[in-house]
Amino acid sequence: MYELVESHAHLDEIEDIIQTLADARQSNISAIVAVGTSLTSNKKILKLSQEHKGLIYPSLGLHPWNIGDLDFEQNIDFIKHNIDRSTGIGEIGLDYSKGVKERADKALQKSVFRELLELGNKHNKPAIIHSRYSWQNCLDIARETKIKKAVFHWYTGPLDILKEIVTQGYYISASPAVEYHPEHRKAIKEVPLEKLLLETDSPVIYHRGTGLEYRSKPADLVRTLRGVSELKNIDESTVAQITTNNARYIFNI
Ligand SMILES: [Zn+2]
Repeated sequence: MYELVESHAHLDEIEDIIQTLADARQSNISAIVAVGTSLTSNKKILKLSQEHKGLIYPSLGLHPWNIGDLDFEQNIDFIKHNIDRSTGIGEIGLDYSKGVKERADKALQKSVFRELLELGNKHNKPAIIHSRYSWQNCLDIARETKIKKAVFHWYTGPLDILKEIVTQGYYISASPAVEYHPEHRKAIKEVPLEKLLLETDSPVIYHRGTGLEYRSKPADLVRTLRGVSELKNIDESTVAQITTNNARYIFNI
């Protein structure tokens, strides 16, 4: 039997955490990286990781969606003060979709992203990067800061940038959208298994607007596993074993 590592979940946004964790264990998930997105979220995941040591690993971050709405300096300060308790730095990154840029322009997003990457690098933490419509800028800034380990989560960008990500030694993660999302499927087909992690981005809703719609939880990692296995034509236990090793290496868990 295999074990799985859930590399990206917003546990602070999930209501019935006890049942959720029981379901995750039932699905052979032995570790969950809980990503923070704001001050409130970072505090919550630190608390959750205290209560569930050895299962939940907190990664403190500031999501680009929140930069425009929050006191970002206060957020960065909290991360700085608690970085030693954090498994990684993230969720951080850039988002160039219109609604996000209106709240925090590119220049502001980049400066916050750079500062957090530098912090992560200084403390030898891996970065968990949100790179929607900003793939090349995210890669360039990650390189410039010389951060050693980085995961481009739920990657949907062009394949030439994906190749650069892989050449740089960075990773991408597959989400349950691997079942149907054309760009994500192309990326997952292309990426070598040695550079891949599995995630759910819970509680994101998948298959939105179709009869298959569902709100995800970490146990849905088995959907990601199955989707990757089918797409790459590699058996599930091999995908599980290699992606779990990748995650344990990156997050040092
Ligand atoms: Zn996320």
